[in-house]
Amino acid sequence: MAIKEVVKNPANVLSQVTKEVEVIDESTIQLLDDLYDTMVENDGVGIAAPQINVSLRVAIVELGEDILEMINPIVLETRGEAEDVEGCLSFPDLFGMVKRPTYVKIEASDREGRVYELEAEDFEARCILHEIDHLDGVLFDSKMTRVLTEEEIEELYADVEEE
Ligand SMILES: [Zn+2]
Repeated sequence: MAIKEVVKNPANVLSQVTKEVEVIDESTIQLLDDLYDTMVENDGVGIAAPQINVSLRVAIVELGEDILEMINPIVLETRGEAEDVEGCLSFPDLFGMVKRPTYVKIEASDREGRVYELEAEDFEARCILHEIDHLDGVLFDSKMTRVLTEEEIEELYADVEEE
């Protein structure tokens, strides 16, 4: 286990455009594993390398039972638009409404170095796009149309606990 400290906003590493991974090797796999351990420890559904202070184009997202590992992801296509609540491990206690496409198609490499394409919709598309934004130094507060009130955040937590 290698749980890293989550970098909190504001921090330079969070607003930088990350570098592409040139060679997928042991250090890339270690990074993916560290991201996973750190995400699980912090109850996240996704995390990007800059959030553990590594400025590389690598991020992961929880997709149901699976973990999507994205090395050098590119957005190939998006469709639709919806507004929904988002949070971010780098912004404790900040939740707000963000407009995102409802469909995304991406291309990325896995830890074996294989290039894959993946389509996702709704919540999963939102998570993927949030993490890819991190790799471009774009933070969700810059896209927020409205910040949730404390009462709304409490309701959000109440709903999660009922599930
Ligand atoms: Zn985030």
